Amino acid sequence: MNTVLLPLVASTIISLLASKIDNTGESKLESESLSKYGNFSEWYDYIIEASDIIDKRYPVKGMLVWKPYGYRSLKLAMSILENLLEEYGHEEAYFPMLVPEEVFEKEKDFLEGFSGETFVVERTIRKPLMRKFLLRPTSETVMYYMFSLWIQSYKDLPLKLFQTVNVFRYETEHTKPILRVREIIRFNESHTAHATPEDADRQIMEAIEIYAKFYDALGLSYIILKTPKWDTFAGAEYNYDFFEIMPDKKTIELGSVINLGQKFAKAFDIKYQKPNGSFEYVYQTCYGISERVIGVLISMHGDDRGIIFPANVAPIQVIIIPIPYKGYEEKVLKKCEEVFSYLKKNGLRVRIDKTEKTPGEKFYYWELRGVPVRIEIGPRDVDNNTITIVRRDTLQRIVVKDDEILSKIKELFEKIFENLKKRAWDWLYKNIHQASSIEEANKIYEERQGVIKLPWCGSDECGLEIEEKTGLEGLGHDPKEKAEGSCAVCGREAKLYFYIGKRY
Ligand SMILES: [Zn+2]
Repeated sequence: MNTVLLPLVASTIISLLASKIDNTGESKLESESLSKYGNFSEWYDYIIEASDIIDKRYPVKGMLVWKPYGYRSLKLAMSILENLLEEYGHEEAYFPMLVPEEVFEKEKDFLEGFSGETFVVERTIRKPLMRKFLLRPTSETVMYYMFSLWIQSYKDLPLKLFQTVNVFRYETEHTKPILRVREIIRFNESHTAHATPEDADRQIMEAIEIYAKFYDALGLSYIILKTPKWDTFAGAEYNYDFFEIMPDKKTIELGSVINLGQKFAKAFDIKYQKPNGSFEYVYQTCYGISERVIGVLISMHGDDRGIIFPANVAPIQVIIIPIPYKGYEEKVLKKCEEVFSYLKKNGLRVRIDKTEKTPGEKFYYWELRGVPVRIEIGPRDVDNNTITIVRRDTLQRIVVKDDEILSKIKELFEKIFENLKKRAWDWLYKNIHQASSIEEANKIYEERQGVIKLPWCGSDECGLEIEEKTGLEGLGHDPKEKAEGSCAVCGREAKLYFYIGKRY
């Protein structure tokens, strides 16, 4: 019975969708005037559901269902990162999701930092458990319990591990799909242990290099800032954050690179024996990136028509659309199949849209989903041994000879990527402003938002005063960027620029 019903249901849904588009005669985006820069939040919420990235109807706030199309892009992105980590000598492992309470409580700053957002498991439906467990909000405590068993000698160092798992954080602020959630479903967290503080510092630089390569591969722009002391990760010595400036000009943290020093090593008793026989605590680092990167990628690269995926993370890289014409139906379809097989054989993620919709409806459908390249095959293409290619980012249309299909598509992938990357970097630079005083910073922020940098003497007091008097959050500073002029607060010689903005 189900086998009979299912195709019926599916075709009804498709025709309902088609009629919805037919009735208005234009896309929902245009009819509701959703615009990425005009009303980013609504644009984002609509795009990620309409394009089959996620479904937010599951009845737990901040926990999303990832649909196959969205999950594929996430897996493609994460595999780029995982390959990079492996190239740099990290190994993948898996650690459990539940943390015994007494293990979680070992490092006091960490406990303090995460106590408000960590879920507790204390019972089955029938009875209380003998001991309390916590759902990992991040895996320091889980892994370091094991590190203390594994690390005995200097020969065991450095240790460089990562895992990509789900973690849980009870966000008290507004949740936002993919960007701010209570279940982070693909948290790629790396954890390392080293014999010396110098080696841990070197590891921090290596992690920054890996993350920069990862964001570069996605065509994202970023600023890398050392976090203000008062905002440093719970239990850490110092950390760096990667920030992107979103289309609404608020900043979002893309990833964090953290030097933990010896705090966790002391709390978890992770010691190694040196060649001379003495014992020392290890020096540790950790760094993480989550699915948030897909939310940011969609935001940065998309336009008013929908998503624009760079080819390397596009679930479908090429969509083939037959343009039917009386008497040519079979020839058109045959050519579509040939092109499909050829591209598939050459390793491309390609699909033919054979649904009953009109070509125009299909264009809209796949533009919304961000497929980077569209191939149209009509009667003229059959007669002339050509195909028509449209690139998603500019909608530019070119006619290509059959024997150039593959090289032209690969060339377009590259051009689209370069264009998206350039747009992202132009946007970032355009939205970082320099001010010399707090008054000027306030004036600039009122007019233009974005990120503002101020000359700063480097003292905590002045940094905190900048935050207080602008009402903006301190993002940090770039230790390599030397400032000119005098501190915007105390007037002493400025050493650095202090970056401020609004954060997600
Ligand atoms: Zn100062």
